[in-house]
Amino acid sequence: MESDIKFNDCCYQIDTRLWGLPQNGAAYVVQSQKTALVDAGTAHNVRDVQKAFNNLKIEIAKIDYMIITHEHYDHGAGAAQLLEKMPKAKIFASEPTCKVLKQPQEIHEKTQKYYGEAKALVSPYPPVKEVSAIKEGNKLDLGNGVILEVIDLKGHTPGSIGLLEHKTKTLFAGDAVCVYNEQTDFYLPPSYPDLFDYQTYQSSLKKMLAMDFDYLCLGHFGTLKRPKAKQVIKKASEVAQGWKEIISKTYRETKSEDRVLEALRAKYGKTMQKAVVDQMIKGYLVSLKLA
Ligand SMILES: [Zn+2]
Repeated sequence: MESDIKFNDCCYQIDTRLWGLPQNGAAYVVQSQKTALVDAGTAHNVRDVQKAFNNLKIEIAKIDYMIITHEHYDHGAGAAQLLEKMPKAKIFASEPTCKVLKQPQEIHEKTQKYYGEAKALVSPYPPVKEVSAIKEGNKLDLGNGVILEVIDLKGHTPGSIGLLEHKTKTLFAGDAVCVYNEQTDFYLPPSYPDLFDYQTYQSSLKKMLAMDFDYLCLGHFGTLKRPKAKQVIKKASEVAQGWKEIISKTYRETKSEDRVLEALRAKYGKTMQKAVVDQMIKGYLVSLKLA
């Protein structure tokens, strides 16, 4: 399957090659009279993003807008370096994400801590000098009826937004749905320590289910069409709830994160990596006030 593609009249999918792996992280481009980049990837992926621009014949110097969907390094840490190659680009994000983009040190240190032995995967997070705040309902007009509207999709993080492109009915969801693998029909909830809020996450899924769109673009990874897009959002809600039930019950009974990991693996996949799932368990425990 091709990773760097144009999937409708004005939208492109870019494989950022997160952690050096194909189809692990995505950014997107919307092009009309003006051009916007949605998410930047990590500081390790800057060259991969540039390569994708070349493949897709998009001139990086002509990018007008960069929008970062949320605080995490795999979406925002590449922004500062990419902006150097985009002399006219203005960058936008929600208020909480703006704060992180300008002062990423704290989140960077925490991310390294949570990754533990895998911390080499976490790229540096160079700060962005200037970034403007956007919020629900704000619109970026790219010309010829191509309009990006900001949708509040908190829950994965407090600063999470999506962008709805009106002409092609494309929803760029950042990590508001989260990890889904179409080949294996495998889904992972977007829990992460400190920033995840389970109830708000479920509310954002509900909000997306009520929206009208034909394409759903995921941060991890790829573009889903109707009716698959809505089926995946429903699945996300169910699996996230299943995780909540297993985590609550097992942790109350055992107070052991390892036992919680075993229980989750038994239900949702024996091959789920400990380093990844441990962080997600912590995110749930904090959000559900169990620990
Ligand atoms: Zn994220």
